[in-house]
Amino acid sequence: MKYSEFIDTYARHPVYRAPTGSRLHAKSWQTEAPLRMLLNNLHAEVAEDPANLIVYGGTGQAARNPEAVKEIIRLLLEMDEHHSLLVQSGKPIGLIRSHPSAPRVLIANSNLVPAWANWTHFEELKARGLMMYGQMTAGSWIYIGSQGILQGTWETFVECGKKYFNGDLKHRLIVSGGLGGMGGAQPLAATMAGACFLGVDVDPERIQKRLQTKYIDRMTADYEEAKRWVLAACEKGETLSVGLVGDIGDVLERLLRDKLTPDILTDQTSAHDPVNGYVPNGLSLQEALALRRSDPEKYKERSLKSMARHVGFMLQLKERGSVTFDYGNNLRELARQGGEARAFDYNGFIPEFIRPLFCEGQGPFRWVALSGDPEDIYATDQALMELFRDNAHLLHWLTEARKKVAFQGLPSRICWLGMGDREKAGLLFNELVKSGRVKAPIVIGRDHLDCGSVASPNRETEA
Ligand code: NAD
Repeated sequence: MKYSEFIDTYARHPVYRAPTGSRLHAKSWQTEAPLRMLLNNLHAEVAEDPANLIVYGGTGQAARNPEAVKEIIRLLLEMDEHHSLLVQSGKPIGLIRSHPSAPRVLIANSNLVPAWANWTHFEELKARGLMMYGQMTAGSWIYIGSQGILQGTWETFVECGKKYFNGDLKHRLIVSGGLGGMGGAQPLAATMAGACFLGVDVDPERIQKRLQTKYIDRMTADYEEAKRWVLAACEKGETLSVGLVGDIGDVLERLLRDKLTPDILTDQTSAHDPVNGYVPNGLSLQEALALRRSDPEKYKERSLKSMARHVGFMLQLKERGSVTFDYGNNLRELARQGGEARAFDYNGFIPEFIRPLFCEGQGPFRWVALSGDPEDIYATDQALMELFRDNAHLLHWLTEARKKVAFQGLPSRICWLGMGDREKAGLLFNELVKSGRVKAPIVIGRDHLDCGSVASPNRETEA
């Protein structure tokens, strides 16, 4: 297929899709794979906003601009195995001579040296077309839709169950705020882990979306109704997830008043951004949107105060016995700025649950079927279940994932595997490709949640 025909078929901005099947468009699978992954990241089923090349996480892009996408495609189609492509913040900047065992594509995103590493400088460069925000897996073309966050959240809840509830979350209630892009995975992760879940979001549309995608079971704007539903399910030992429309601070205040102490308490509101994310207490969503535009300074002040109040209630619930942890949204720091001096009196999820897994060499492992055929992923699921038949935790995840995870774009899977086991899985995949049990090669990737990838004092490198 000629370049112009390829663009017409797969990359007519803003409509992108990855080729599927076992026929090559590039010169080898080494370049066909990144080509398909880039296009998959921009597929409408996968990306939040393909028109702006935004994949997920607010502004995380797969490429700098539509011209850069086309140029990357052209190079990937033409390159041989004696060259490597260099991509800097979403733009191809060089094709160098290398060798068949060298990486075919090397990507670096959003790198600024410390004195310039701030949002002002970043925005300045971005406005001049010199930079993009790559998030964790958008700019590295290994985003696989909401399955990634679902699996990580499930892993966190299961670990929490092991550490504090003898490995059993039956009859346990998890309460959290925020049901957005990432936080929306919490309800399904909670029920998959065997718990009941009450999630609070000010924006009914966000909860509606989780209902449509079957990530949440029920929705209401009535606190009493939500409470009745989750308490009844918890008592019977059933799993149920409920989305309640409201301000998380207000709901926690009512739980305290009603002497209802959640077993597990966390939060995934967009607290990291006090102006364009968190919605201050005491404002309707519409009022908040108006204030955001008219007086961002005042908005920020109200946000910080609300977060201080919100964390104050979390601390009270913790004192009453809730297992309370921060979920990486920087809520504690902003609550501290808003006046809650004890904001850091509860731990983050990394030192609590994730780092102990890292210490054992466990970590995320994701893969994508380049054929586009879901049967290829089911074949990998089956083969992994045979290979790791003694790993009950893995078998549980793979069985549940097959039932509950809808594929977005190219079919994919993620799980956590231990040191040595990831290598075994890779060799098994080689066998599946070689023997023709899958119809095309499999792409293997990781994500940022590993021991060496992120330095963030209130998150990955906390404590
Ligand atoms: P998002 O913006 O898509 O969703 C945030 C949600 O919070 C929105 O639906 C919003 O309506 C809701 N909200 C805001 N203020 C509220 C309030 N006062 N009461 C109730 N609901 C409120 O964000 P997201 O992608 O879901 O991510 C959520 C946060 O979690 C972010 O800060 C993100 O950085 C963080 N996060 C961290 C990790 C990690 O550390 N590994 C992983 C996932 C998410």
